[in-house]
Amino acid sequence: MPETAPDTIKQIVIVGGGSAGWMTAAALSSMLPAHAVRISLVESEQIGTIGVGEATIPDIINFNAMLGIPEAEFLKATNGTFKLGIKFVNWGRLGEDYLHPFGPHGADMNGIDFHQFWLRHLEQNPSSTIEDFSLSAVAAKAGKFAMPDPNPRSVLSQLRYAYHFDATKYALFLRNYAEQRGVRRIEGKVTEVRQDPETGFIQQIELEDGSAIPGELFFDCTGFRGLLIDKALDVPFKDWSHWLPCDTAQAVACELSGDILPYTISTAKEAGWQWRIPTQHRTGNGHIYSSSLMSDDAAIDSLLKDLDGPAIGSPRKIRFRTGHRARLWEKNCVAIGLSGGFLEPLESTSLFLIQEGISKFIALYPSADLPASVRDEYNRQLVKKFEQVRDFIILHYKATERDDSPFWNHTRTMDVPDSLTQRIELFREAGRVFRYEDELFSKPSWVAVLLGQNIVPKSVDPIVGTVDRAGIARSLQSMTTAMTNAVTQMPTHRAFLEKYAWSGASA
Ligand SMILES: Cc1cc2nc3c(=O)[nH]c(=O)nc-3n(C[C@H](O)[C@H](O)[C@H](O)COP(=O)(O)OP(=O)(O)OC[C@H]3O[C@@H](n4cnc5c(N)ncnc54)[C@H](O)[C@@H]3O)c2cc1C
Repeated sequence: MPETAPDTIKQIVIVGGGSAGWMTAAALSSMLPAHAVRISLVESEQIGTIGVGEATIPDIINFNAMLGIPEAEFLKATNGTFKLGIKFVNWGRLGEDYLHPFGPHGADMNGIDFHQFWLRHLEQNPSSTIEDFSLSAVAAKAGKFAMPDPNPRSVLSQLRYAYHFDATKYALFLRNYAEQRGVRRIEGKVTEVRQDPETGFIQQIELEDGSAIPGELFFDCTGFRGLLIDKALDVPFKDWSHWLPCDTAQAVACELSGDILPYTISTAKEAGWQWRIPTQHRTGNGHIYSSSLMSDDAAIDSLLKDLDGPAIGSPRKIRFRTGHRARLWEKNCVAIGLSGGFLEPLESTSLFLIQEGISKFIALYPSADLPASVRDEYNRQLVKKFEQVRDFIILHYKATERDDSPFWNHTRTMDVPDSLTQRIELFREAGRVFRYEDELFSKPSWVAVLLGQNIVPKSVDPIVGTVDRAGIARSLQSMTTAMTNAVTQMPTHRAFLEKYAWSGASA
């Protein structure tokens, strides 16, 4: 039995009020009683937030559910739409596209992955695509949406989704949530971070108006500035730009035209790629590129040329560095959001990494003495998560056959982390994929991107090589029939939204 109750933290200070700051404030205020822990958040309207970040992965549903946020209320407040996956255009080869849908492909049989049966089927049916066996992909292509069915016997149970939304509105929504639960918001610009001269622990932050805010634990949510983790604590940055050479984005919204697609589009370009993210009232667009291989003017021209509606305002330039802090929790400071690290939004993982930073912190919630063992474990888990996401993103660049520009020649031929090389080789051999320790991306996600970018295994799993082809064809046929029937009955994405969570906002 524990001998004594631990001393608990009484004062938490969150510096920064972008998505990271308010997600942290909302989550902590939902867990910690306001009378026991005083949570303050300092932000500066003068500095503002990054103002991009509209696409998510399904885990965001768990975050909102943890806070008890009703889905329709959240979607209305953020002009949100549903996202069933990402369409990648021109990534493997120019003129080709594929979908990385959320959720499974088909159904595993006898404990063997579905894609192995499909690969055997492919041998004699070369026009078959694995997407035809993903309910999310079939619905996405038809522009349809319905809620997943909790009954595992229903084909609708295979649907998985995430959201597109206005990230600035999300932060505001969470601000309201957190303030109602006692979080004290302080407007002001931090000018000084005061540290204990002996231990280096942060004692207080000081604002432009001369006021000081003391705390026992600080969250650095100051975005790329990294005011605490970098400027004050000088934690080194692990740079991954040799694997992910894009370092600049030009972002602009445009008017919606046509249907509201229930998926993100990522189109590979000459020296990077362009995103297209539909919300209820507009489409978010951005061109991410390597500034050493493309000028800003050329990037802007390319962005504007490929909008599918009139631009709203002018493109905004954002510079970034890919990688993460060597330690995301240093002394009494936890870096969450862009201050802790950044991976380009190709697989919409930044808000997820914020969520991970928060949930791992809660899982390791420390006593007031902030044990080093707890910090070390937090750092181990978070760095692992960054590395897993990194490998998945690099895969898109490495597994290309494009040779039409210096950018693709570089990414196609570059060395990649050993962990990724091993995965690609394992898949190439006999289509095998594993999901390692607490990994974010599931087997179907890896399979979608590997196959989508033309890494076709030399053979199927030898066990499946013994299975009767006619039986596989019958199973596959009944799966596609069930999916086609289910999608036929779904409403369009727009019709579903209009009934469920229409915000009524205009661009
Ligand atoms: C080009 C691009 C596209 C992206 N797309 C996606 C996407 O599709 N999906 C996704 O999940 N994520 C995406 N992201 C990431 C996402 O935008 C961020 O992870 C997320 O918004 C969190 O940002 P933040 O809160 O860490 O930083 P910010 O939004 O920059 O907030 C920083 C906060 O710190 C405050 N601050 C800074 N300095 C001071 C100071 N001295 N005093 C007081 N306050 C201060 C600011 O006022 C602000 O409130 C994208 C990022 C980029 C760069």
